[in-house]
Amino acid sequence: MNILFMGPPGAGKGTQAERIVSEFNIPHISTGDAFRLAKSQGTPLGLEAQKYMDQGLYVPDDITIGIVRERLQQPDCEQGFLLDGFPRTTAQAEALDEIMKSLGRELNHVINLKVDRDLLLARLTGRRICKSCGSTYHVMFNPPQVDGVCDKCQGELYQRTDDNAEKVGTRLDEYVTKTAPLLEYYEAKGILRQVDGEKEIDAVSQEIQSLLRGKA
Ligand code: ADP
Ligand code: ADP
Ligand code: ZN
Repeated sequence: MNILFMGPPGAGKGTQAERIVSEFNIPHISTGDAFRLAKSQGTPLGLEAQKYMDQGLYVPDDITIGIVRERLQQPDCEQGFLLDGFPRTTAQAEALDEIMKSLGRELNHVINLKVDRDLLLARLTGRRICKSCGSTYHVMFNPPQVDGVCDKCQGELYQRTDDNAEKVGTRLDEYVTKTAPLLEYYEAKGILRQVDGEKEIDAVSQEIQSLLRGKA
């Protein structure tokens, strides 16, 4: 099963991806996570990506496509994968088609999580992430049992440097101009499925699972 998660920043892609990959036993490929890891390791790729991420802008296509091309060739992707946050531009979508063709594979599902802009702002500014295991929380909508501590591994929770009101505005604008038009690209291929991302986390998971299992 080869799945794409689309949706603006804060729509719940990462939260839902965590659940779906454990249910379907496929790797979760997040370009945002890949860039943050490279950044924390101080690699040349990380330093380059940081210039854009710190401003809330997209990392250039050639860099982003290169990472995904390499990742999809790894053996653990042979049984399927979940791509989260890629593609975000038409050039990336076209490159993905070409990569899939060269691997003799096809995309099966494109799931678009729909959430209004006001709610996205509230979600992003309240997002907290575990330093150790990467689990995502929200100070109001999905709080940990103990303030600032991960339920799963007791790791420390932190706030992403780009999750402040100013950067969030730029990121949402990037999404509207560069990524939203891609929905038509997948609509035309007949594989786009819309999901109401404003429902509770469990309800959204149920809906996605029904779609993936062909029951909706
Ligand atoms: P969110 O979960 O809020 O949508 P991500 O963690 O996926 O954000 O991405 C963080 C940042 O990484 C983006 O703001 C952008 O700078 C960069 N990035 C991630 N994916 C891509 C992509 N497909 N194309 C360009 N830049 C990307
Ligand atoms: P994305 O990966 O699309 O940027 P995340 O999965 O990181 O989004 O979610 C953004 C924030 O919103 C996180 O703090 C998360 O806990 C919270 N969140 C995710 N899904 C929901 C939901 N259905 N209802 C309420 N809060 C949610
Ligand atoms: Zn943790």
